[in-house]
Amino acid sequence: MPIDTDAPRIVRWTSRALPKSPDVARAIDAPLGVVVRPLLGTEDADADANADADEGFVRVKSAEHIARCHACFGYISSACVIDARGFVCATCEARTSWDACATRGGRYRDVPFAELQRLPEVRSATYSFDIAREVISTPVPAPGAHEAGIDDVAPDDWRRRADAERRRRSSPRRSDGRAVVIIVDLNDASEEYCELMRTMIMGCVEALAGEDVRFGVFAFRGDALEVLHVDADARGGGDADANNSVIRLRYFDTHANAKKHGFIRRVRDAVPRSLEDVLPSALTGRAAIEDAVENGLRSGSSGGGTSSGGTHGSSSGFSSGDTKRIFGPVLDEALGVIEDAFDEGLMSSARVLTFLRGAPNAGVGACDIASRGSSGGSGVQRVQNLDVAPPTALDFELASSEAEALMIPAHDYYELVGERCALSGVEVDVVVISDTFCDVSTLAPLAERSGGRVMMYEDRADVPVVGDVFRLLTRSRGVNCTLRVRCSPGLDISRAYGALVADTAYPGLYHIASCTPDDAFAFDCGFDAAQAANANGDFRSASSSNTSPPTIQVAFEYTTTTRSADGIVTRRRCRRVHTSRAAVAKSAREAYKTLDVNVVAALIAHHALANADEFGLVESRARALDWLVAFVSKAHVFARGVDRGDDVDVDFSLLPHLAPTTRLVYGLLRSKMLFPFAIPDARCVARSRALRCSADDVADYAYPTLTEFAFAGATQTTPIRLRRDALRDDCAYVLDAPQDIIVYYGSSAARDGDDDVFDGIIEDAVRRARMRRTFQPRVWRIRGGGVDDPTPLERYLVEDLDVEYSGRGRGFDGFVKDYLKARCREEIRMRVLGGGGVSAAS
Ligand SMILES: [Zn+2]
Repeated sequence: MPIDTDAPRIVRWTSRALPKSPDVARAIDAPLGVVVRPLLGTEDADADANADADEGFVRVKSAEHIARCHACFGYISSACVIDARGFVCATCEARTSWDACATRGGRYRDVPFAELQRLPEVRSATYSFDIAREVISTPVPAPGAHEAGIDDVAPDDWRRRADAERRRRSSPRRSDGRAVVIIVDLNDASEEYCELMRTMIMGCVEALAGEDVRFGVFAFRGDALEVLHVDADARGGGDADANNSVIRLRYFDTHANAKKHGFIRRVRDAVPRSLEDVLPSALTGRAAIEDAVENGLRSGSSGGGTSSGGTHGSSSGFSSGDTKRIFGPVLDEALGVIEDAFDEGLMSSARVLTFLRGAPNAGVGACDIASRGSSGGSGVQRVQNLDVAPPTALDFELASSEAEALMIPAHDYYELVGERCALSGVEVDVVVISDTFCDVSTLAPLAERSGGRVMMYEDRADVPVVGDVFRLLTRSRGVNCTLRVRCSPGLDISRAYGALVADTAYPGLYHIASCTPDDAFAFDCGFDAAQAANANGDFRSASSSNTSPPTIQVAFEYTTTTRSADGIVTRRRCRRVHTSRAAVAKSAREAYKTLDVNVVAALIAHHALANADEFGLVESRARALDWLVAFVSKAHVFARGVDRGDDVDVDFSLLPHLAPTTRLVYGLLRSKMLFPFAIPDARCVARSRALRCSADDVADYAYPTLTEFAFAGATQTTPIRLRRDALRDDCAYVLDAPQDIIVYYGSSAARDGDDDVFDGIIEDAVRRARMRRTFQPRVWRIRGGGVDDPTPLERYLVEDLDVEYSGRGRGFDGFVKDYLKARCREEIRMRVLGGGGVSAAS
């Protein structure tokens, strides 16, 4: 059985060889766990069924034919031992006979053994199968093509009858379709912003081109809700004036009880015929949608039906504090329309994209920004101001308590709406385009609960929101997912991290609202003491099979929508099974050697985020450091012995693959997620993304890669440390961070065609970095030597930046010299005096 050491790795272990016993695990003190990317490798496989065979992923026929263990219900896999009569389960080691399998028709019984071994589920570590599938959209028939119905066919023409019958069955039912609904905040909207929104909406139509999607646009401004209204008859008559394309409703809030606020009329009452008028088909009504969007999304005066009440006539002259933002009521109205459309059989699922320019402040779901933060009033402002001046220890303490207060949602309205959406098959994405505080931590649960994304952009015309939304809609993904994790005896999943919810009834079962091939989930593994006891405290079990290495099997079920090359859109319910084995490290040396530093960092990051929620930022940061101290100390003692404790080896010079550890933890402490001075909304978005990150992406968040390009056509590139004095004047650099790509030219490095080869290599690096990311990073080009403002790059030079442990103004060096080494020396001294633990390392 090959141990999966290289890509594609759906399950990535903290170490390729797990410590053989809890003692060895304690001796090295690395976290033990896995990062799972359940849909890794399905990007192209879904579109083309042949592609996944090449990737090593096999598709098998149907669920009921796959053998499952009678004891743990695990799936058969290449890790199982099989013979002519049955198989031994790779996870629980129970034996199941083919007769006992719930397989009909003997897929395994009475089959020659050689043939048995060739079955995909027996041969491959990963396989998937469809549980159900339905066609939800077919391409438009060519104009003029006559679709023969059954009635047109002569009764004796059985061949044509059968054709027509097949066509009827495979044609989509209208009620299976889906809808995209866009909610746009037009308060204080400039003409550029409206243009951006129009481009974005038409981009969405484009993204789903050829699919029979229903399309709705809701906009709000002041006390008015505007719903794009496509009236096919009126358009035909040629009187498509601006008012005809918008239904305008007024919001009133004269009542003292916030729950009683609302719209004077409902959208349903304003729709003359059916909800199809506000949810037109993007396939047949495309031109009408385009017209309506063009006429409807205008900045400034909104014309006709609105009163002067809360509607601002112009985009300028109002700070967001004056603006009435009725997001909650508008969302409620939009969801009402969607649910009615479900009832009417117009469609069965929907995706709602919400665009906000500030925190909601009127009606249900309003956020009282002024009272956010513990000091009441200026909390947000203080956090942001402190980012400018070098902070003192007291500042750190104050900032942490401000940040902690802002991490807690102001109320749970959006969480409840998000849950309602998840139940009814509606995903909501929250996109904030603003430079002011929007209370994202209160809004984020709406997206997180329903399976959508939280995104944030500066309020500028050139933000990449159009491209990001396009990718959001086109990228392959699964919704309504369940993840089942099974492990072999001695191993135990103790805690799960990421955008998942543990099932309350079944241990090892998790619910995930949505998942893309990029998304990852992390699990802590523990040694199950009861199981390990009968195996002498290590993984080698005394049961039936001779040796059983640590094994994890993930079974992932999800619903996905795919479009084939000929334009047929299919919704499928799939299950994907992956089995992964690690080796067993007999000694601490082997355990150290096989550690995967990025997976270790990812688990430490997940622990830190969970601790921040549970115990606050100060405690979370302290615990991350405690771990680093213990890890560095133990590795030092292991590699160099106790007597050389004077100069602690924080760079792991004898275990070079662990060298990034210290910097990764430092970067994590300085990252938006954990640094108390980060802008609160940015922290919330970073946190929401980090929870879904793969191990490598977590490492990029903490300590992005900075690559040096030496001048004069040299193809040699080197990754270097993130500090100013590492940058040379005659070189160029590319920094590859999740949200920014920065090209930096040293003052004497060539630029702009001085040397084509040189620029070509750099552009190549930028292109590759962009390709890796789902959300497009912003690309900066900065010339050194005082020509351009270096601030964007300096924000990433982590080693020049301080944490509270740095000593004043000393950055990473100060942290290592004054803090980390001293604490490690202390730790080593204590352990030597205590006498425990060290011996186990040998
Ligand atoms: Zn089993």
